[in-house]
Formats: sequence, structure tokens, C-alpha cells
Amino acid sequence: MTTASALSPEIVAKYEPVIGLEVHVQLLTTTKAFCGCANRYGSAPNTNVCPTCLGLPGALPVLNRQAVEFAVLAGQALHCQIRERSIFARKNYFYPDSPKGYQISQFDKPIAEHGFIDVPTADGSIKRIGITRAHMEEDAGKSIHDGFPDSATRTYVDLNRCGTPLIEIVSEPDIRTPDEAFEYLTRLREILLYAGVSDCNMEEGSLRCDANVSIMPRGSSTFGKKVEVKNVNSFRFIRAALEYEIERQIEVVESGGVIAQETRLWNASEGRTYPMRSKEQAHDYRYFPEPDLPQLVVSEAWQAEIAAKLPELPEPRRQRMIAAYDLTPQDAQTLTATREFADRFEAAAHSAKSPRRLANLLLSELGGRLKAANLELAGSPVSLDGLVLAADLLEENKLSSKQLKQLFDLCFEHEEDFPAVFEREKPEQITDSSALEALIDEVIAANPKQVEQYRAGKKTVAGFFVGQVMRASKGQANPALLNELVARKLDG
Ligand code: ADP
Ligand code: ZN
Ligand code: MG
Repeated sequence: MTTASALSPEIVAKYEPVIGLEVHVQLLTTTKAFCGCANRYGSAPNTNVCPTCLGLPGALPVLNRQAVEFAVLAGQALHCQIRERSIFARKNYFYPDSPKGYQISQFDKPIAEHGFIDVPTADGSIKRIGITRAHMEEDAGKSIHDGFPDSATRTYVDLNRCGTPLIEIVSEPDIRTPDEAFEYLTRLREILLYAGVSDCNMEEGSLRCDANVSIMPRGSSTFGKKVEVKNVNSFRFIRAALEYEIERQIEVVESGGVIAQETRLWNASEGRTYPMRSKEQAHDYRYFPEPDLPQLVVSEAWQAEIAAKLPELPEPRRQRMIAAYDLTPQDAQTLTATREFADRFEAAAHSAKSPRRLANLLLSELGGRLKAANLELAGSPVSLDGLVLAADLLEENKLSSKQLKQLFDLCFEHEEDFPAVFEREKPEQITDSSALEALIDEVIAANPKQVEQYRAGKKTVAGFFVGQVMRASKGQANPALLNELVARKLDG
């Protein structure tokens, strides 16, 4: 990063950044927003097109009902008010990837407004970031600047993306740090994925982010001139792009300059922003109502019908799962990373004796092995049902964790599920007190120093003895009985 080094923390601390994000999200409809063309990524160039999305004269748009339902669903998931009557508008500009010469969008009457997302902050509190609006619009095509033998002199265009339904979600300028911006985007993506309205795939461009950034003296409430940073299209770079732009602005102000209202482009490979256009070149889009589309009416009854399809959202779900299954917040976070994963866990948790133990096994014992073997849960030899049996056996002390590890080794080695391996191996368990006591006596005799520590008050040393005896028993000691006997012997 080029400017970062020049600024001392004291100087940086004099300023407070203000950030507002504009996020474009492609909706997962089968067909495009205003025609019957497939809404599909990755087709051969210019194959998913028709007179309507190519903007040929005389072709008329017909609004896709599924796109409206997804937009309303997204608005509801973001706690927005849904407008019963919204209006489409033409946003006029010339661009080679938009043959119509305008984009159908919404202007002063968007379908959803006044929402919010709650994000966790550095000090552990929750901050509410306002959502100004979420409006419907259509995507443009794509100019292709490289990849062809004559790319040095020509640009190609692929119009497949023309007319893909989008929602643009505009935040209030409530964000104050790059971390908050990252959290906001993370939560937004999670909510939209849960709602099922988009695949939010940033690499494929289904979720794209422009960031508005300004700085003001810390303590001030008058915002500075904002710079719009385009093309912040990766979670990996959102922080870097914002940090760069904030520091660039501080440098300009510190050296006596003023911030010009402009649009800049983030260049990820160079880690900096470049000027793209200034206020003087700013677009005058000359919005006007779209004459080919009637106003969009989403009645209260229809809104209610859509709201009924809204699934439980990630954050409330986490809170409920923490309470219902006695999970740690960290485990709840991991288990709810996707709706599918959370659904699978919960289905299994209902039949487990201890859902918390099931979560532990899933995230640590099984999770670690899957990661090492580079496998997804879907490819796991141990199914979730198998895992429930394993967790129950542990919970009932019918299996030691050492035995469980040995059985899991076999499951992964033979690609067999846990119940089958357990049935076959039927690991022995020592539940005979006198046999265990004999082993404990041996271990106690061999470790006088630890006995002394224990008796001096360091009760955690008991775990050492349990571990030693468990090893001596080849993992066969009944864990509950062993714990009890070790404590009794050491205390006696
Ligand atoms: P424009 O008229 O340029 O479209 P808007 O007021 O509609 O500007 O805001 C566009 C985005 O910029 C929103 O996400 C908003 O939160 C953000 N924004 C507005 N003013 C500022 C500012 N001074 N600093 C940073 N972001 C801002
Ligand atoms: Zn079409
Ligand atoms: Mg605006």
C-alpha cells in the first residue's frame, strides 16, 4: 500500500471515516427480469438473449413475478417497509454493454425502504446499520477486454447478463470503520443466502459492492465530501480498499488539500484506488418513469404470502440454538454458517441425548478429520446419524473418547459409517471397580510428585491420573467410573 506508511496513528486518529455501501445482488430467478431468457451464468456469449433484453425497437418488457417475490422477500429479511405501489424508472446512459441506452430501475418509489442490519462491533456491542432502500433493477451486459488474440485493439461484448434481475441495497452512512463495513457485508450476504434470493457469489459477480467513503474531524457531525469507490468485489479486499481510501483522504487533507467529490476505481492487484470520473463528469441520468411498465402493486395480502416463506434468519436462529442446545456462541456461529448446515445439525440434534456433545463432535472430532481429508460433510464416511450414536455412547459413558477416536480411525480408513464399525468392533469396557482400582493404585504409586500436587490443592491434576489410567486400560475404562474412583483414591 503506497500511502499507508506515511501516516502516524496519531494523525489517523484525528479523523473519523464515514462509509455507506451500495450492494448489487443478482436474484436467483429462472428467467430474466423482463423477458423469458434464461438467467444463467457461464453460457456461451450472447446465447441467452432476445429482442427484449437486447433492446430492439418494439420489444416490450413483462415483469417477472419471481423477481418481485425475491425482492420483497429480501426487503422483508432486511426489516424494510415494502411499498405497496412502486414505480419503475428509466436511468439513461450510454454504455456499449447496454444496448437499450437505459437501464430499467426504480427511482423515487423503490419497492423497499427503511430497513436495517445489526452487526457486532469490536467492543462486543451490536450496532444497527440503516438501510435506506432496496430497489429493483436490471443488470447490464459485460464488456470483455481480454482473452482474445486481438484484445489489444478490440473489446468484445457479451449481452447474456442484460436484463438479469438485481436488487440494489443502499446503506445509510452509518458505517464508521472498515471492520464494520466487512461485518455489514458479511451479515447482508448471510441474510440473503438464508432468504434464498441469491447465491451471492462474488467471483461470478452475483454480489457486487461500491463503497462511499468520506472523512471528518473526529467528534464532528458534519460529513465530508464522499468519494465513491467502485469495484470492491471481494471479501478479501473490502477492508484493504477502505483502509487505502481513508488514508488517501487523510493525506490529502493533512497536506492542505481538499477532497474532491469523485468516483474512483479499486485496483485489487495494486492495492490502491484510481480516479475514474469527477463531479463535473458525473452522470445526469435523467430518470423518468418507465412508460412500458405499469406501476407495480404488491398488495398487503401478497406481502403476507411472501413473508410466510421467510425462513428463520441467521442471528435469531443462532440465539435460539444457543439457548435450545446449550451451545457456545462460537459453535452456534459455525453451525449456522449456512442454512443447510444448520438444518442438518438441528435435525440430528433432536435425536441426540446431548446436542452440545453432538455439536462438539461434529465441529472438532469429525470436522478436524474432514478438513484433513479435504472432505465436505456430504462426503463424510460418518453420517450425522452415525455421529448421534457416537455422541450418545460418549454421553452415557459407554465409550471413552479414546475408543471413539479409534473407531473413527476405522470409519475413515474403511469408509464405513460409525454404527457399522461400532457393531463389529464392540469395544470392551472395564466397568469392574476392582480391576480399575488396581490400575489406579499402580499409577498413583508411580507418580508421587503429582499426588503431592493434588493433595496440596491442585485438583486439576486428577485429569492427569484419569489420562494415565485410561491409557493403561487401552481406553477401555468406563470414563464415569474412572473419574469417580480416581477422585476417591486421591482424596482418601
Ligand atoms: P448520491 O446522491 O450520490 O447517490 P446518496 O446520498 O444517495 O448519494 O448516497 C449514496 C451512498 O453514499 C449511500 O450508501 C450513502 O450512505 C452514502 N453516503 C452519503 N453521503 C456520504 C458521506 N458524506 N460519506 C460517506 N458515505 C456517504
Ligand atoms: Zn431476453
Ligand atoms: Mg443516490
